[in-house]
Amino acid sequence: MPEIVLSCNALYKSYEQGPIQVDVLKNIEFQLEKAEQLAIVGASGSGKSTLLNMLGGLDQPTSGSVQLLGSNFSELSDNQRARLRNTELGFVYQFHHLLPEFTAQENVAIPLLIGGHKFSRAQKDAANILSLVGLEQRLNHKPSELSGGERQRVAIARSLICQPSCVLMDEPTGNLDKQTATHIQDLLRQLNQELSTSFIIVTHDEQVAATMDRTLTLEDGVLLDSTAHAIHAEGVN
Ligand code: ADP
Ligand code: MG
Repeated sequence: MPEIVLSCNALYKSYEQGPIQVDVLKNIEFQLEKAEQLAIVGASGSGKSTLLNMLGGLDQPTSGSVQLLGSNFSELSDNQRARLRNTELGFVYQFHHLLPEFTAQENVAIPLLIGGHKFSRAQKDAANILSLVGLEQRLNHKPSELSGGERQRVAIARSLICQPSCVLMDEPTGNLDKQTATHIQDLLRQLNQELSTSFIIVTHDEQVAATMDRTLTLEDGVLLDSTAHAIHAEGVN
């Protein structure tokens, strides 16, 4: 039996806008396996970010549940949920959200320091993970001294520093030129193979989705038919 990292069960999300109820997500169901790379595609406004926020325990569904490693977010206290999120999830967004006054190494080390680890250990782990994303020559650069692709690689390194089970990414290459975006996608595949971390990428870009193991499509709040990509189904990987 494959190990299930994240499971989304009969998930609904609605917003009240004055007298109107907007049903953004309707009966979303899927399971994510260990080391799986899942793409969720959909047009702008289809509910991708709303879904990702609930998968990350950052927002509550109207009904239904999300389970991370068997724990139901809605059954945890705020502290338990925050701890589970910090240890088992990483987040990458379209904009890198690095702290401008800190170096790449410090930015990557921060989640470990927040988690109570010693400074020396945090700096060492940050250097290791930065070399895994090809930035061993950029440890002391501040975000303003890095290219867009390098900044996003720092953000990816930061998302992986606590060795999470799963990283949730919202349009991670949406702000990059095509060539840089392709490099980042190659890097994600390599990291996925080396670390066995599960990835969920939400994107409006079918090409980004095509590099993942599986794609689910969000349309009018419903998650359509999942397709295993041919490359995966044929066992090329
Ligand atoms: P996507 O990320 O796919 O572009 P979103 O998840 O951001 O889409 O938004 C999906 C829909 O939900 C949109 O119609 C948006 O207007 C609506 N929505 C998102 N957040 C809120 C909110 N806090 N209140 C009301 N409506 C919202
Ligand atoms: Mg969005």
